[in-house]
Amino acid sequence: MSKKKLLLLSTGGTIASVASDDGLVPGESGEQLIKMMGSLPYDITVKDVLSLDSSNIQPEEWAVIAKAIYNARHDYDGIVVSHGTDTMAYTTSMMTFMLQGINLPVVFTGSQVPMNVVLNDAQSNMKLAFAAAANCDPGIYLAFDRQVMRGCRAVKVRTTAFNAFESVNFPVVARVTSDGFEIHVHNHQQHSECQLNTKVDSNVSLLKLFPGFDPSLLEVLAQNGCRGIVIEGYGLGGMTFIRRNLVGAVGKLIRRGIPVIAASQCLYERSDLTKYEVGRQALLEGAISAHDMTSESAITKLMWALGQGMNLQQVTNFFATDVAGEVTLSE
Ligand code: ASP
Repeated sequence: MSKKKLLLLSTGGTIASVASDDGLVPGESGEQLIKMMGSLPYDITVKDVLSLDSSNIQPEEWAVIAKAIYNARHDYDGIVVSHGTDTMAYTTSMMTFMLQGINLPVVFTGSQVPMNVVLNDAQSNMKLAFAAAANCDPGIYLAFDRQVMRGCRAVKVRTTAFNAFESVNFPVVARVTSDGFEIHVHNHQQHSECQLNTKVDSNVSLLKLFPGFDPSLLEVLAQNGCRGIVIEGYGLGGMTFIRRNLVGAVGKLIRRGIPVIAASQCLYERSDLTKYEVGRQALLEGAISAHDMTSESAITKLMWALGQGMNLQQVTNFFATDVAGEVTLSE
């Protein structure tokens, strides 16, 4: 059997970092990463697209990464993207929207310890990512610590431990066990031709509610050009309305055509505005439920929707649509 043809796109992150007087900085090229891995059973091509700590990865870099994936999509069996862990879940979520209908597995990975440190997690994560790129169904994935997750369901939940990522509200797609690489979830979405669309509007905000939150901040955001907001409310998505009337402030924004997405600050399970008065009032004002999406998916979905020029009604409809497995919509 001929070897699978895989592409590594390197973007920086801890996995490629070296020690410097200023702390860890990305320094290794993709070729150097592959060299440190020893022999692998694939035909691997390497391209360096960026060399950044992922805290510096922003919408401009998302467009660069998406284009590199799109341009390579017919030439390989799968693509691995090495990336810093800090914003990787935002990037994988955004790639889900920018590259709808992607026709091959695209697997992001990184590490907590650089590849050039002997006791690293970089080698095993990279090997996992290549196995996923060679074997998984088409889609955007994040591979870390023996688990492969849907990119739009992954969240970084630990700052330093090797099991830094979890798949939230969706099962792990594949994992490594003593029996080898096991795929548990197949992607049955039918794809037409992959669409590349990198237009996003970054004039958005992601707010976490806390007791005492001043609702007039929403007005300040709107006056500063904010065109959409995700609010991590309490529990099922509830918002304050006595004394500090956040619900009223949300309604004012929505009447001006600014979508407000109600998410939960709980990591697991869904938001549901229908259960409590503090949710229903927000719903009556026109707040849009994030259902069980991660905040990373909710904010990137909003940025992408606004980038397409969608109006309030269209954004509302878009959030009631499962684009690529990022949301579970209740019947
Ligand atoms: N600061 C690093 C980054 O996100 C952390 C990592 O890669 O683990 O680029």
